[in-house]
Amino acid sequence: MSNTETHPSELTAEPNADMDGWQVLQGRDVPLGGPRAMTVRRTLPHRDRSFVGAWCFADHYGPDDVASTGGMDVAPHPHTGLQTVSWLFEGEIEHRDSGGNHGMVLPGEVNLMTGGHGICHSEVSTPSTTTLHGVQLWVALPEEAREAPRAFEHFAPELISLPTQAGEAHALVFLGELAGTSSPVLTHTPLLGAELRLGPHARLRLDLREDFEYGVLLDTGSVELDGIALHKADLACRETGPSSLELVAGEDGARLVLLGGPPFEEEIVMWWNFVGRTHEDIEKAREQWQAESERFGEVEGYVGKVDRLPAPALPGGTLRARGRRGKV
Ligand code: MN
Repeated sequence: MSNTETHPSELTAEPNADMDGWQVLQGRDVPLGGPRAMTVRRTLPHRDRSFVGAWCFADHYGPDDVASTGGMDVAPHPHTGLQTVSWLFEGEIEHRDSGGNHGMVLPGEVNLMTGGHGICHSEVSTPSTTTLHGVQLWVALPEEAREAPRAFEHFAPELISLPTQAGEAHALVFLGELAGTSSPVLTHTPLLGAELRLGPHARLRLDLREDFEYGVLLDTGSVELDGIALHKADLACRETGPSSLELVAGEDGARLVLLGGPPFEEEIVMWWNFVGRTHEDIEKAREQWQAESERFGEVEGYVGKVDRLPAPALPGGTLRARGRRGKV
């Protein structure tokens, strides 16, 4: 998905506090624009936090009744300096990009698109989709990969069973490694992305890497994370250090997304659909998109009301970089 906000605001951040334990970020509602358009709950970027590992953007949406929200129809729009990770719980989205890729995003199957130097893509929920429900995630590319060529990967992980202290738990590991299973999808920094499914009253202790930060997003159901009750679309984040976490599901069980990665030490400038390092990087990408530059290529086969999403105007002043400790 795109950040289709007409006036993407520059967040004013306060430095991340050095804190023990979990920092619970609550999703803020962001309408994606257009008539009957869907609203997402965004937790990253947050005024109090820029990253979980290299994960730099997290939208949770649905379950939306497509008949009332109109579903998803995002015209071709550009990306730079990042990878998009699409993960659905319900529904189906048709993806087309300027790397010549055309594929479906399906529940339980990950699509990872690399928009290093420049790519553009469209995303449209299919006519048979009645409910749309998922997460849209972005990964910041490190300096050595941020000009990477266009790429697109698809992977359908196997559902694995996790050992529990009570009840049942399963996982779909779509990026990285967890509980002895791993995803073959290429990332440019170590990352973890997994869907966790907990049965009623399941108690799960997960062994983690001490060198990773983690984020736990609650999709449905109810759960306590190390004794903290999460609400729908909350993203609980934790610094490196601890070697495990504990999840205890309520009577309806819970579905969650677990994100992780080592701290991302670079500073980035993030605006609209672009990630760069400086204000000038963003200004140039915006100009090139508006000028229909080769940098972004063209999407074949998209049919919609507009051929491409125009970039909003840049805000006045200089876009500031974000780092692990907030705005710099
Ligand atoms: Mn997009």
